[in-house]
Amino acid sequence: MIGAGPTGLTAAVELARLGAKVRIFEKRDGASNLSRAVGITPGSIELLTPCGAGPAIEAEAIRFEGLTMHRGDHPVLSLPLNFDARSSLHGLPQDRTEAHLIDALARYGVQVEYNRELTNLHIESDRVTACFGRHIEVSSKYLIGADGAHSRVRTTLGIHFLGHDLPGRWSIADVHSASWPHKTRFSGYLLPQGHVCVVVPMAPDRYRVIADADDALKALPVKMQVDEVHRTGSFTIQVRQAEQYRKGSVFLAGDAAHVHSPVGGRGMNLGIADAADLARRIMDGTTQGYDEARYAEGEHVIQISERGRRMLQSKGAAKTALFATMSVISHTPPAQRAIVHQLLSG
Ligand SMILES: Cc1cc2nc3c(=O)[nH]c(=O)nc-3n(C[C@H](O)[C@H](O)[C@H](O)COP(=O)(O)OP(=O)(O)OC[C@H]3O[C@@H](n4cnc5c(N)ncnc54)[C@H](O)[C@@H]3O)c2cc1C
Repeated sequence: MIGAGPTGLTAAVELARLGAKVRIFEKRDGASNLSRAVGITPGSIELLTPCGAGPAIEAEAIRFEGLTMHRGDHPVLSLPLNFDARSSLHGLPQDRTEAHLIDALARYGVQVEYNRELTNLHIESDRVTACFGRHIEVSSKYLIGADGAHSRVRTTLGIHFLGHDLPGRWSIADVHSASWPHKTRFSGYLLPQGHVCVVVPMAPDRYRVIADADDALKALPVKMQVDEVHRTGSFTIQVRQAEQYRKGSVFLAGDAAHVHSPVGGRGMNLGIADAADLARRIMDGTTQGYDEARYAEGEHVIQISERGRRMLQSKGAAKTALFATMSVISHTPPAQRAIVHQLLSG
């Protein structure tokens, strides 16, 4: 396994749980402290339940109660996200999700091998050799590239990452605010000129503010009393998918195989699902179906995420139509259930 993000950790823990001998290599010198993905779908919790990480994540995470969309600072649509107890969306900073996966892995006797950066790999008839610098080589039957969007595994194999970069930068702030009133609700603000700002609870009194603007906190159209700023940053968005997820006995999973906008919060969850599927297939001897099945699922999620992003960033007549639709949905519980079902599936 190359990469100890949520995808690599899930694949490693599932393979170990199912009885395989597994090693996981990570170029970092220790566990990550980055809070990137927050939303964890019921599907991910379910997949991570047999190894014990799912219940541990559920116990620590926030259970989201709902989502409110605003036109400027005026609420236009509220959706409950917890129609029933078994299908709730949970929120936890990604580094905490990874910590629970690392704990689960340790219970199967596997430790992440840090300071191991894959530099090259060779596929021979039925073996793969991974090279870490000039002196360390590891040979195995299978190799999983879960090494993120800039995957060395993918580039070494010459697999194209097809798609495009979206224009513009997004900004992000992780803050502490004791007085923010929406402790378990997503708050989305649709702003003039197709701009958008979102506040996501991450932990008690801790929030992620994210906007397609230079300064997420300045873009927020309502007052937030910020007690402490934990982290700020900015990023650009790529919408890309690997043209194939497999070459011989080397597989791609997670961000190494697909990237898209954070709208819909599906990136990490898609990686966890790739990883669990691949681990099962390796153990069942059905890996030939992995490429096709997970490519189709990745394509589907990218389409949903892009549709959502385009909607949120719409302008003019499209935005007027969006507000009209939101107004209808706010009075139509079956439509609310259908939207929430789509948001939580996967
Ligand atoms: C701001 C932001 C917000 C997000 N919000 C959400 C959200 O709410 N919900 C959601 O589902 N997703 C979200 N995502 C996306 C999510 O963070 C990613 O989809 C997820 O981290 C992908 O996991 P991964 O394990 O595939 O890749 P990564 O997390 O990128 O892990 C790859 C690992 O491989 C290691 N590595 C790389 N190259 C090598 C090498 N050559 N040798 C050894 N190790 C290597 C890296 O150090 C890294 O640890 C967000 C992303 C961002 C940037």
